[in-house]
Amino acid sequence: MKLRQFLSVVPKPVRIAACAVFCCAVLIGLVAGAVHGRLVGNNVALPVLESLVGKGIGLFFGSLAAIWLLCLGYVYGDAQSRGMQPVLWMLVALLVPNLLGFLLYFALRRPITIPCPQCGHAIATDQRFCAWCGCERISPPSTQTLSQAPGAPS
Ligand SMILES: [Zn+2]
Repeated sequence: MKLRQFLSVVPKPVRIAACAVFCCAVLIGLVAGAVHGRLVGNNVALPVLESLVGKGIGLFFGSLAAIWLLCLGYVYGDAQSRGMQPVLWMLVALLVPNLLGFLLYFALRRPITIPCPQCGHAIATDQRFCAWCGCERISPPSTQTLSQAPGAPS
């Protein structure tokens, strides 16, 4: 799966929040590094070093938190497009430890469905005909590529 496909599933507010979290963590790392460096002593090399260490820590935790947020957002958006409970599954992914919530979600998630143009029943995107009324599905949906997401049974 490409990164763009992944990001297209993540709701926009979550993407913005992930960016904000990342920037905040880097800023906090920079400021904490600089302040700590100033407190430690008069050594000229030290504040620069501390600031670099702070930036590294900020980058590390910032990207971890941002990736975590994006993954939660992905579960939310993906569950929504599959007619599952998005909030419930996001909470499962959030609260079940050791990423088991994510694994559980990808193991149990339903195939992406679209409403039948004739009778309105949900039909899977890989079905050519509606199982309820037998009409042929006319327009392939743009979200078809999502069925090849990781974790999907192949
Ligand atoms: Zn139908």
